[in-house]
Amino acid sequence: MSIFKADKKFEKFEDVTPELLKKEGVKLLLCDLDNTLRLHSEKEPADELADWIDECRKAGVKIVIVSNNGRKKMMQKFCEPIKVPCVWWAKKPMSTKLTEAIQKYGFKPSETVMLGDKWSTDVLAAKFAKIRSYKVEHRRNIV
Ligand SMILES: [Mg+2]
Repeated sequence: MSIFKADKKFEKFEDVTPELLKKEGVKLLLCDLDNTLRLHSEKEPADELADWIDECRKAGVKIVIVSNNGRKKMMQKFCEPIKVPCVWWAKKPMSTKLTEAIQKYGFKPSETVMLGDKWSTDVLAAKFAKIRSYKVEHRRNIV
């Protein structure tokens, strides 16, 4: 697999279905936040995001948000109602925080995927962490 390519591409996070994750053997989904799970301006989780996270959870997929956003309080406030752990200031494309999350929650790299909108941070960090990457379109372009 080329370093320039994500393993799979989607238009939006909603297209990454629990059925697909199950079929692909994904048990831990590390998610970028800005322009992947929300528009940069959204202060609260949208209903479609809360629903998608619930569905993934029911399918046995653990979701952890791994963001380069450094606004800790904003991120905690955003993630609290959806009950998803978050890592802020992750410094992607460095893979340190991805690897830490994989170890902290007790998964294998082979059952982990990084989902994000940017090649230069999300996809590359996944390559460095030796996990699969799923890329979505920059969210502001499609909603
Ligand atoms: Mg992003």
